[in-house]
Amino acid sequence: MNKECENLALYFYGEMEPQQAAAFKQHLLHCKDCQREMAFLQQMQAALVPPAAPQQLAEQVLAQARPARRWTWLFAPALALVLLLGVGGLFWRMGPSASAFSDDGVSFMASISAEADEEYNSFVSDFEAFEEEF
Ligand SMILES: [Zn+2]
Repeated sequence: MNKECENLALYFYGEMEPQQAAAFKQHLLHCKDCQREMAFLQQMQAALVPPAAPQQLAEQVLAQARPARRWTWLFAPALALVLLLGVGGLFWRMGPSASAFSDDGVSFMASISAEADEEYNSFVSDFEAFEEEF
């Protein structure tokens, strides 16, 4: 490794001036370190960058994607409004019915506790009667 080797990345990514690149190319012919590093960078790039899709396929995909995207942007505000109204309506409807439900709940609990009281009282009186027998 020498000072020239530090410029490998610049050369690899095409960031060098043409004159500089030509000089580095000469260095690359003789430097095993740079050749190894260059091969590694090329493999990495090949692994990371998928081969470009054929232009025709890309255009087809874009053509199919565009109307959907336009539709979304066009209807997004309307969709938001519908959602807002739907949620608002849900809350508006939940308001009265929720309190009606809780009234039902109170009377339901009251009827249950009345039954429980009755059962408890009859159990207590049965128990007292049972106790009296002994
Ligand atoms: Zn080198």
